[in-house]
This record gives sequence, structure tokens and C-alpha cells, in this order.
Amino acid sequence: MVVKEYVTYNEVHKLCQDAAPQILQDFQPQLMIAIGGGGYVPARILRSFLKTPGSPNIPMQGIGLSLYEQLPPTHNSASDTPGQIEEAGTKVTRTQWLDFTSLGEIENLVGKRILIVDEVDDTRTTLEYAVKELEKDVEAASQKLGYKGEETVFSIFVLHNKNKEKKGTLPAYMMNNNRYLAARTVEDVWICYPWEATDIDAHDAMAAKQAVQ
Ligand code: 5GP
Repeated sequence: MVVKEYVTYNEVHKLCQDAAPQILQDFQPQLMIAIGGGGYVPARILRSFLKTPGSPNIPMQGIGLSLYEQLPPTHNSASDTPGQIEEAGTKVTRTQWLDFTSLGEIENLVGKRILIVDEVDDTRTTLEYAVKELEKDVEAASQKLGYKGEETVFSIFVLHNKNKEKKGTLPAYMMNNNRYLAARTVEDVWICYPWEATDIDAHDAMAAKQAVQ
């Protein structure tokens, strides 16, 4: 049986709040790239906590990557709880990407400290893909612009990292230099995020029930 863990909006908010000081200290991001859909809400919450008085909000961009395919409802029929479980695909599909045809957007990335935000690091396949592809695109853009300035540096923030063997790998410069931060490390459970709930009251009730167990 798949163990589910229900996370509320309130908890997500506090995970972002708790992580923000370390992100400010270690990454000092100038731009955030949220991996959609799960990275959008954490990125937006985090932005409020990363804002420093007198400075503008950190700009946010979004990319859409999909690895998991929705299963037919019968697969989940034994479940008595709200929330769908999805199953891992093997291939990452881009559903949305940065617009590299627009010069303004390229200039916004090159030479910046960029924080990639997602909700969960499960097999790490998605994060590996995102980092590799963004690095490639930034490199191509730098060459096109003849850019010779500061290096573009990527960091990662996720709400949850699952403590399991990973299929994907991230560059050593990230893992060894405090450029990867997970607000929580959890066991290999299925995390039900509030934005996926079709009945948020039932979702919160499950979270409350689980908290007293
Ligand atoms: P990975 O590529 O690390 O295996 O998976 C990343 C994506 O899979 C996440 O962005 C998320 O969309 C989905 N995913 C993996 N595990 C979970 C989970 O426990 N709960 C939910 N809701 N999504 C998950």
C-alpha cells in the first residue's frame, strides 16, 4: 500500500518561510525559475520571504515539465482518501519553456544567480533534466551574446526530498556547495499537496487526522 502524506497550505507556507533565511544566505537568488505545476505555489510564497526592504521582488519565470502520467481512476479505487496518485513515466516532456527567441529574456538569465524551485525531488529525473537543459540554453545564449561577465549559477530549492535511490544526478558543484536545499527530507511516501486537492476541507481533515496519529 502506498503511504500518503497530506501537506496543508499552511505547512507549505511555513516550509518556505523557514528555508528563506538559508536561501538568502547561501544562494542570494536574482531570479527564480519555477518548475510547473508543483513549483509555482512554493516559488510565489518564497518570493515574499526573499524580498528585502527597498529592493524589488525577485522576478519569477516558469517552465513546465511532465514526467508523471495520470492513471485511470480504477488504479486508485482501493484508496479511501482524496487525492490521486500518479505513476512515474520514463521521459520528461517539456510543456512550457523559456522564450529564448526574445533577447530580453536571455539577458535576464545570463550571468545571474538563478534559483530553480520545485515541490518535490522524487527520482530526481525532472531536476536533472531542468538543470542540464537550462545550463545548455544559458551557454548557447551567452555565446550568442558574446557574454564574458559573471558566471550563471543555478541553485535548487524543493519543499520535500525523498530519501531514496535517485535515477537522476545533479552537478557536483550544486551538491557540494550548498546549492541544493530541501526544506524537508521524507521517506518514500506519496505527498498530497493542497493545490492538487479537489476538496480542500477533506484534504485538511486528512492532514489533521494524520497529525494526531
Ligand atoms: P522526479 O522527476 O523527481 O521523479 O519527480 C518530480 C515530479 O514528480 C514532481 O515535480 C511532481 O510533479 C511529481 N511527484 C513525485 N513524487 C510526488 C509526490 O510524492 N507527490 C506529488 N504530488 N507529486 C510527486
